[in-house]
Amino acid sequence: EIKAKDRGLTARYRPSMLERSQQQAAIEGDLRQAIINNELSMVYQPIVDVNTHTVVSMEALIRWKHPEKGFIPPDQFIPIAESSGIMILLGRWIINQVAIDCQFLKGTELEGVRVAINISRIQFVDDSFSDYLQSCLVEQFPKNQKLTLEVTESTLHNDAEHSVNTVKELLDENIQFALDDFGTGYSSFISLKEFHVDNVKIDRSFISRCDEVKDDETLVKAIIEMAHTMGFSVTAEGVENEAQLMKLQELKCDFIQGYFFSKPLPIEQVIKQGSWYGEKLS
Ligand code: C2E
Ligand code: MG
Ligand code: MG
Ligand code: MG
Repeated sequence: EIKAKDRGLTARYRPSMLERSQQQAAIEGDLRQAIINNELSMVYQPIVDVNTHTVVSMEALIRWKHPEKGFIPPDQFIPIAESSGIMILLGRWIINQVAIDCQFLKGTELEGVRVAINISRIQFVDDSFSDYLQSCLVEQFPKNQKLTLEVTESTLHNDAEHSVNTVKELLDENIQFALDDFGTGYSSFISLKEFHVDNVKIDRSFISRCDEVKDDETLVKAIIEMAHTMGFSVTAEGVENEAQLMKLQELKCDFIQGYFFSKPLPIEQVIKQGSWYGEKLS
């Protein structure tokens, strides 16, 4: 009787788990093909100075147009790449593609602008990461290209010791570190100091109502003040309207990123938009 019950349970559970792992395996296989078949591309979202409304940097974000399934968001396939062992390969593709795209900035208003690349924990703790990045900077990127490496709190907490050393090896006037999605994890400002973080990016979930909800405003204000005290600059992620921008300016946030100024776009379109975004303001 118990056995029959067990069988019933497994019969109910198995299909969905199997389906999920099959789906995961399918995406993993497709992703390997995607790298070879040119289905991947990078888009760039400007990060704008809150006072001058000019571009200070731009964040590179990956896009995958699957031949049958259409666009698959990075939130879906990056975790699969990370758990399947192809993140190192994908991460290298990303760095190479960003280097190619940066060449188009030469002779434009955006020449020399800093470019931010999201670096997965998997890449960051790989022994060859810093050497690889260094060689790309020398051989592929425009000379003296300034980069920001965006990492999340989990990167700073796992394999911390090795990560710290990698960070130190990489430290160069042209390379900065930004802590992405700040507020969603557990890092203290003290721990950020030892990881040489230069910039803190406040997660969109705190920004979306900072102009309407007093508690959110108070929290954002506290993060900005504490970050400044520690010597970090602050970027607000996901700014979608002018009211949020005004509030963030009042709270002394340094940099603004979000649909209000621009969605992430292919490099040619970002170049076409130029470096001044003041006209978006009423
Ligand atoms: P993230 O690094 O925090 O990137 C910000 C995300 O917010 C991007 O989503 C961007 O398109 C979106 N966003 C920007 N402004 C707004 C706004 O005003 N409103 C809303 N609703 N969304 C906004 P995306 O491109 O889908 O990327 C999602 C996440 O996937 C990224 O979060 C990052 O964690 C990861 N990711 C994307 N590209 C890469 C990559 O090249 N390498 C790695 N390792 N991860 C990546
Ligand atoms: Mg990011
Ligand atoms: Mg983020
Ligand atoms: Mg994120």
